[in-house]
Amino acid sequence: MTTPAVALFETHDDAIGPYSFEAFVEAAGHFHGYAAPGLLLGGFMVDAARKCLPEGILYDAVSETAWCLPDAVQMLTPCTVGNGWLRILNLGLYAVTLYDKCCGKGFRVALDMDKLDPYPDIRVWLLKSMAKKEQDSGALREQIRLAGASICTISPVTVDQYRLRRKAKGAIATCPLCGAAFPAKHGRICRLCQGEGPYLGTGRTLPDVVDEVQPELTRIPVDKAVGRRALHDMTRIVPEKSKGVAFHKGHEIGAGDVCRLQQLGRFHVYVADERSPDPDWVHEDTAAETFATAMAGPGVASAGAPREGKVTLVAAHDGLLTVDRDGLEAFNLLPDVMCASRQDGLVMDKGARVAATRAIPLFIGRERFESAMRLIGDKPLFSVLPMRAAKVGILVTGTEIAQGIIQDKFAPIISGKVMRFGCTVVDTVIAPDDRKAIADGVARLLDAGADLLVTTAGLSVDPDDVTRKGLADAGATDMLYGAPILPGAMTLLARIGTVQVVGVPACALFFKTTSFDLLLPRLLAGQAITRKDLSRMAVGSMCMECKTCTFPRCPFGK
Ligand code: ZN
Repeated sequence: MTTPAVALFETHDDAIGPYSFEAFVEAAGHFHGYAAPGLLLGGFMVDAARKCLPEGILYDAVSETAWCLPDAVQMLTPCTVGNGWLRILNLGLYAVTLYDKCCGKGFRVALDMDKLDPYPDIRVWLLKSMAKKEQDSGALREQIRLAGASICTISPVTVDQYRLRRKAKGAIATCPLCGAAFPAKHGRICRLCQGEGPYLGTGRTLPDVVDEVQPELTRIPVDKAVGRRALHDMTRIVPEKSKGVAFHKGHEIGAGDVCRLQQLGRFHVYVADERSPDPDWVHEDTAAETFATAMAGPGVASAGAPREGKVTLVAAHDGLLTVDRDGLEAFNLLPDVMCASRQDGLVMDKGARVAATRAIPLFIGRERFESAMRLIGDKPLFSVLPMRAAKVGILVTGTEIAQGIIQDKFAPIISGKVMRFGCTVVDTVIAPDDRKAIADGVARLLDAGADLLVTTAGLSVDPDDVTRKGLADAGATDMLYGAPILPGAMTLLARIGTVQVVGVPACALFFKTTSFDLLLPRLLAGQAITRKDLSRMAVGSMCMECKTCTFPRCPFGK
């Protein structure tokens, strides 16, 4: 250890940085609220680490505990939590490291239990072997003063700066609910509005207590309601038989309706002044229609007028349903609204129901309604992507098949699956397990006009596996290998220019339904499947391997 080159302040044997011990005790009181023993000891530790570093370098700090020690770093160095030069990696250890920002080389100062024998009070304090109020705080402080950093071990270390790198904030968005600026990667709304704030009670924008405030409505007995209009659809449920609208919103209640309403258990009805609606409130029908219109992206249409306050969205044509899950989740975090949908990635027939949305109360407060609309903004939640009729090239690999020792079963399986979606197979190549033969086979399929290449086998942990190398030789890029889908863990995805490549593991020869069945529709819809997309598919992508496969009716991939 060396002494500091420049001592600006009077230094003692028990000095801590520029402070005398007494001055540090006082400064600690100001900074930390009181002169905690851990902070005093931490002062010696930080000072020791700093003296080990060459003068004049820029350094960062890591504290391995969140208790006291970080404050010693902040008192004695330019490193703070706020400027990011001090990182707290709470390993629960009493150790601190200062290291060169550029190369990561530095010194770790750690409290060493083996050196505590001369300082019994420090040991008692550290191990909490005595209740705090029974500890001798005066003796403890004196022992810390005497010991300084001598009870620590100082070791040279190199910090893996990648691990400690501060994540960039990235793009900044404005929260559509509270108006705060926040990192866009947190989702559509800020984390406070997502309910992650620590505050009790109602919070600013997301009351978790439903307030029963509703607009001024006049509640009148049904027999006095003749001639008035129903304010909302009224449902008649016959248990296990039927459920439907008995009275539509706007229906003029006639004398004959009184009895029927009473049979529904309605002895009062609500009426509102239709000529001058309350501007602070939005009727459930208006809310549902407005939400539905905003949520519907390309290929999605409203099924018609609201029924019982709910609007249903349907597929406007055949295709692949895509759901903005983050957006849908954020929407459903809002009070007084809901939207339920089918699963992302499903193949939809024209007219199939995609989702439905509504407001929960009969009248939703305008502020909440507008929050919900701001949240959706111009980013629809649902779309149905048309699926192209691909020109499929099939590449079967395997020397035993190429030599005719084993008959290929793969091409017929793949052909059957792609033809169900209206695709055509332009050519099938059977190549031996040879890198060049595979690359040549790919070239032949591309020449034949394939825009979707399906390859097989060899996609295993077997070191003889040359399929991937052959594909790479043929120009395959953006290769993803491995998928959280069973069967189909060894699935490969790549592209050669605009031609999509999917490698189907040999399990497809045995299992009727595999990863290929889940991925094929997405590929036909032109989706560029990323690692993130695959990881999101994990939930639900475990096939139950039923004796009789009922896919796509079963839960596989949903
Ligand atoms: Zn917010």
